[in-house]
Order: sequence, then structure tokens, then C-alpha cells
Amino acid sequence: MQATLTDIPLAGPLAAYRGLEDAPLAARIEAVRRRMGRRLVILGHHYQQDGVIAHADLQGDSYQLSKSAAEREACEAIVFCGVHFMAETADILANRPEQVAARAGRRVTVVLPDLAAGCSMADMAAIEQVEDAWADLGSVVDTADITPVTYINSAASLKAFCGRHGGIVCTSSNAEAVLKWAFARRRRVLFFPDQHLGRNTARRMGIPLGEMCVWNPHEPTLGGNSASQVQGSRVILWQGHCSVHAMFRPEHVDACRQAQPGVKILVHPECSMEVVDKADLVGSTSFILKQVEQAPAGTQWAIGTELHLVKRLEKNHPEQQIRFLSPVMCMCATMYRIDLAHLCWSLEHLEAGQPVNTIEVDAETAKWAVTALERMLAVS
Ligand code: SF4
Repeated sequence: MQATLTDIPLAGPLAAYRGLEDAPLAARIEAVRRRMGRRLVILGHHYQQDGVIAHADLQGDSYQLSKSAAEREACEAIVFCGVHFMAETADILANRPEQVAARAGRRVTVVLPDLAAGCSMADMAAIEQVEDAWADLGSVVDTADITPVTYINSAASLKAFCGRHGGIVCTSSNAEAVLKWAFARRRRVLFFPDQHLGRNTARRMGIPLGEMCVWNPHEPTLGGNSASQVQGSRVILWQGHCSVHAMFRPEHVDACRQAQPGVKILVHPECSMEVVDKADLVGSTSFILKQVEQAPAGTQWAIGTELHLVKRLEKNHPEQQIRFLSPVMCMCATMYRIDLAHLCWSLEHLEAGQPVNTIEVDAETAKWAVTALERMLAVS
């Protein structure tokens, strides 16, 4: 039998929330939102499930969300319904030393409702591996001639690595502008953790594949490359990928075109080069949303990005024909871990003054990560 609203004490153990149905959980979440008012900001990433998005104050991509929350003066707590690196970015931006000083030393509490909500792509580049790669690269090329560029989908420690080494952060919206900035300063780029965004962007800029190599962090030397391969590369691509976008295949594009002649194929640049090459349009989540919003009624789309986002587009744009590019479900399973039970549990603890699953980036890491983020802001 399902538990009811009155069966569990407020701010009880997580297990007590797991047995509740969605309706009482939603009512309790809304009650916390009402009581905390503008002191609380709930952020919902575009890939989040609808039931959670319904309670978000803001919906967007990771950088937009963190930036907007950090700008809210009354905000005392951010609950990020996303994944771990997103909550880190929110903490870094909301708790810059000058902002904390302006609040008389008060930090904004940042909560990730389920600490197991990680990102498989971010996990493919550990700071120790990147530091080893940097040292290894230094044995065959001058690292003073390499700009490290990290996709925002990475741990704070990697952003800090970029800050320390004259590098920069990019998003899927500004990757090309960031690479141009990097090449205006130094000859080479080490791009991590997503090889596909790096490769797709560099190719669009006219850099041939022959001037790129892939760095496998599990290989004992030079990421599995010869010295001459590394020396001949302007772009060194970390061998990481998004497990969601990697599921789209070129044959899915062929099948959609065959089934629906005239369909427009719209994909995210985290997809492989083979998929991107066959698509009509390629761009970030904001780009995808804009294309659909601006298209005339009756436009036929097959969209290659995370399932929840595509389903929401389908629901919000009944005037268009929107389908998912892949026959298999490509969803961000780690983000999906954040459900109403985790959200309610974390909110009630937060309100009770016993926050759980708080994310706090250490001051030194945050300082250098902000340096890399500020370089990005100056570019875009
Ligand atoms: S969709 Fe891919 S890159 Fe985005 S959070 Fe999920 S695993 Fe990470």
C-alpha cells in the first residue's frame, strides 16, 4: 500500500519519501516553494523529466541556469535538478568571493537532490588523467603552445586546470568562438572531455582531420599516438563522449529520410561526425529550440538530442511534426535519477536548516575555474 502525506514526518529519511505517490510529493514541494519564496531557486535542466520541470523556477542549459540563479539577489539556496558538474558551476558562480563579501559572508547553499546524478561524459576525464596527459604532451611538444579547452560539461577541477594553464571553458553554443580565441594565441588546442564537439567544431572551422588526433587516457604513452601524430596535430581531442548523443547513428538519419522525405534532421554537436555530416542543421540546445520555435507550421523534424527535450518540443509544438531521430530511447539516465522523492526530501531538509547533498567547490579550485569561465565570457 502507498504511504500518504501524513505517514511520514517532515524532513525524514529518503526511504520514507520513496513510497509516496507523485501528487503528495508535488504538493509538499510546492508548499516549500511557497514558504521559502525568493530565498529558494529551483533550477531545471532542459533534459530533466516533466514532473520535475513543473517545479522549476528556471529552465535552461547548465550555464544559463547557473548564471541566472547567481544574479538573483534574494537567493539563499539553489536546488539544481541537473547533474553534478552543473551544481558545481552554480556554486562557483553564486559564491564568488566578491558576492559572498557583499552578502556579509553568507554563502548560497547549492544542493544536488541526488549525488549519484553524475555525467558520464564529465567522468571520462579525471583531473589526474588530464595532468598526466599534459606532462606526457610536454615530452613531445611545447605545452606553452597548447591552450587547454574544456567543455562546460566537466568537473570544476578541469575548469580550474584550464584557468591555471591559460585555457578556457566553452559551451556548445560558443565552441567555435572559443577555438578561434585559442588559435589566435597558441598553435594547438587540447580539447576535453567531448571529442565530438571538439572535432565537429574544428572541422567547421576548416581544420582537416589529419591535423587532429584522439587522446586515449587509458593508453600508457601519448594517449596511443606516435610523437609525430601529436606534433602534426593542431587539435588534440580527448577520447570522451556523451553516452546519450553517441547513441544516434548515421543509419537513423537514412531511415528517417526514407520514411519521411522532406524531413529536416536537427542534431546536437555532441553527436558523432558521421551523424553531423548527414544532418541539415547542427547546434546547441538553444539553437535547436530556436529552430523549432521559428519554423512554419507543418515543418517536419527528426531531432537528435536528449529524449525529454524532444518530447517536450513535440508537446509544445503540436503545429509541427516532431519525431525522435533514433528508434531507441536516448535519455540522460543519470539526470533522470532526480525524481520528485529526491526533490521533496532535499527541499524539506533545506527548509528545516539541515541541507543534504550540498555541493561546495573548494576556494582554490573555484578561483581558477572562474578565471577560465571569465575568459569564455569575454569571448562570447
Ligand atoms: S546528456 Fe550527456 S553530457 Fe549531458 S549530462 Fe547527460 S551524460 Fe552528461
